[in-house]
Formats: sequence, structure tokens, C-alpha cells
Amino acid sequence: MICQFQRTIKNPIKIEGVGLHSGENTTLYLIPAKENEGIKFIKDGVVIPAHIDNAHSFEYSTTLYKEGKTIRTVEHLMAALYFTGIDNITIEIAQGEELPILDGSSKVFVEKIKEAGIVSLPQEKIYAVIEEPIEIFQEDKFIKATPSNRFKVIYQANYNNSIIGNKKFEYIPENIDSFKGIYTARTYCFLEEVEYLRSKGLAKGGSLENAVVFDKDKVLNEEGLRFEDEPIRHKTLDLIGDLYLLGYPIIGEIFSFKGGHRLNAEFVKALISQGAYSLKQASEIIEIMNFGCFYDKVY
Ligand SMILES: [Zn+2]
Repeated sequence: MICQFQRTIKNPIKIEGVGLHSGENTTLYLIPAKENEGIKFIKDGVVIPAHIDNAHSFEYSTTLYKEGKTIRTVEHLMAALYFTGIDNITIEIAQGEELPILDGSSKVFVEKIKEAGIVSLPQEKIYAVIEEPIEIFQEDKFIKATPSNRFKVIYQANYNNSIIGNKKFEYIPENIDSFKGIYTARTYCFLEEVEYLRSKGLAKGGSLENAVVFDKDKVLNEEGLRFEDEPIRHKTLDLIGDLYLLGYPIIGEIFSFKGGHRLNAEFVKALISQGAYSLKQASEIIEIMNFGCFYDKVY
């Protein structure tokens, strides 16, 4: 039951690639950290903890900002860290201001982390256990959390498009199929959005190599979709990455209806401001221990 304990990577990792929105090349180093150090970014000597307090912009991605330093599009790496059970790691951005988009999913991050190796640290993992129901709204969108003895995320969309449509995806970590079927889901956009995004200085690095592009109901990528409901799976991945900005993995059931980065961030802030959870060590939560360490059963 290795996931009773906090984890970090065994060896440093170097990752290079282009940023989805900036179009700039980025080089980053993932460096092992000690127990209770948490997940931290470093840019030009400024330490930016991966925490919602440092999240400042949510337009088509989640951006961290502190003392004049910006790191854009952190959500796919945050999701990869959640998926591999990493609690402590330092991410140094040597070049650029945006994490590389890679294939548009968390796949490369997860693979590099597995390749580098994962080690347990001599302190128990700490979980944020949802203690009371909480719900936030934004127009017709909402996210709610309810207490549960497990982590479960349900994402439901309602798009006017026959490919995405009114689909729903359920992520249950201990269900190996749902676990395997999420971290490779790619980001996506619609062809008619591309011009608008570019006019706003976004998606400059976007291509069919790193995003699924829809022309109305048609997928333009030659290889097609990785899953029939890939966009919904990706929205779930984004939500999981943003939720990890709470600083702890959650125990509770999360339901998002059409949520995006902005609502995800408002939700994490509401969890904190409304005191909707309590922090517990792994050994205080017997139900988690019964699941064993699901992080190691996949990939
Ligand atoms: Zn995304």
C-alpha cells in the first residue's frame, strides 16, 4: 500500500516543447523534493507554489503568477502529478513562460515520470476530505462536491455538436479502465474558434500534433479520436489538474456540469473559504487504504 505515503520522483526529468498559447519553446526540469515540500514551480529564482492562491488567469488554460513571474497552462502537468500520486516535486522553468503542450494530454508527463521512477517518502499522504456538500454556479454551469469515502469525478457537457453532445464521463481512480482512459485524452478546439483565439494572442502553438480540431461535426486529425468521448475525458482531466491546486488530493464526489478553468478555480477557492473539507492523514481514512495504491496498477 505504497500510496499511504507521500511520493516524489526518483531522478530529475528534462522536458522540452512548444507552448500551446504562446507558441514559444519551453524547457523545464522536474526535480525530486522532500516530504511536505509540496509542488512548486521556480521561474528566474521566484518560487511559485502550485496553489490556487497563485492562480490568476483562467482563459483557455490555468496560469500561475507571483512577483512578476508567469507560468501558463499548468493543468496537464498538475493532472499528471495527481495521476502518478506525486505530492512533492520542484518544477524549474528554464526557458519560456508556458508549460509545453506536448501531445495535448498528460500522456508524456505521466510517461516521463514513470520512466524517472517514483519513490515513497517517510511521511503519510494528506488528503482533503469533503465534510459537507458544496455547490457553485456560473450562469448555467455548476460544480458540486458531496462527501464520499472515495474520490470520484463526473463531468457532463451539453454542446450543440453531435460529436461531443450531451455526454458524461465518470472518473473513478480504482476503476482501472477509467484511470487508463483519461490521461491520454487531448485538448481540443473548433476550427471556427481558431481565428478568434489567435486574435486574442492564444493558441499560437496549436496544431493537429497537439490538439483535436473539429470542423463542426468532423474531426480534422487524420488519426481520429483516441476515445469516442475524448473531449469530455479531457475536460475531466483539466478539472482534476485544477482541483490539485487545492494542494491535496480530494476524498469526495465532484460533479461538474459544463465547468471550465474559471469555474474550477472558483470551486477550489470556495472549498477553502467555506471550510468544506478537513485534512486527514492516509491512515485515518481506512476506506482509502482498502483500495490499495491504484496509482501503480496502470499505464
Ligand atoms: Zn486541457
